[in-house]
Amino acid sequence: MRISLVPSSTSSENQLQFLTSYLINDTIALDAGSIGFYRTPREQARVKHVLISHTHMDHVASLPIFLENIFNLSSPCVTIHGSEAVLETLQRDLFNNRLWPDFISLAPNGVRFLNLSTLRPGVPIELDGLKITPIPVDHVVPTLGFLIEDDKAAVLIPSDTGPTEEIWQRANQAANLKAVFLESCFPNSMAGLAEISKHLTPEKFFREVKKLKLPAALLAVHIKPLFRDQIVQELQSLGLKNLGIARMGFEYVL
Ligand SMILES: [Zn+2]
Ligand SMILES: [Zn+2]
Repeated sequence: MRISLVPSSTSSENQLQFLTSYLINDTIALDAGSIGFYRTPREQARVKHVLISHTHMDHVASLPIFLENIFNLSSPCVTIHGSEAVLETLQRDLFNNRLWPDFISLAPNGVRFLNLSTLRPGVPIELDGLKITPIPVDHVVPTLGFLIEDDKAAVLIPSDTGPTEEIWQRANQAANLKAVFLESCFPNSMAGLAEISKHLTPEKFFREVKKLKLPAALLAVHIKPLFRDQIVQELQSLGLKNLGIARMGFEYVL
């Protein structure tokens, strides 16, 4: 399995993460924060499935742009996967003919922009040789994390979450778990804000990864750009041997 955290910035050296999108094996995107700003329309059109963890803007910001970029390049059209809550919010609040045209219904000359597919919590789907299990986590809007498995490796991407339980129980059953991309949004000094917004600090990150019984690589993501140096320092002082800071634009091969 090849997985990369898509850069947020058009400056290629920039490691600041403003947005969230992962690209898996070129054909599957997990979240659409930056996938529509990635390289060229033709490269974006290789993505056949987009899974949306939740509808916060940093996870869907580039979805309209992505769909416009690949229109007419992608046949059959891309499928957007999300929970019922996610799909309903996309229709009501984004593709509502005010913020953006209703790409869900529009089909110029019979060509659709997208198909929708509903994710059910705990029910795995099979996509391009991968088994992907959506698992609810604890964030301020309905949010699904993902366990992604092929025949050699499993990767856990809990997405945005405060302290949570179920996803760790599921991860502990994945014998081939190789990596966890876990958020560490705020510095420890902002624990109050992390609690209200249901995100993690390095201290909370530490408590979460202790729920994992398997020796996977721990890759910190979703680090608030303004506090990046402080958060990275606090993460590194946790004494976790298998901890790394996820490198944007780098392809992890698992
Ligand atoms: Zn969020
Ligand atoms: Zn987020």
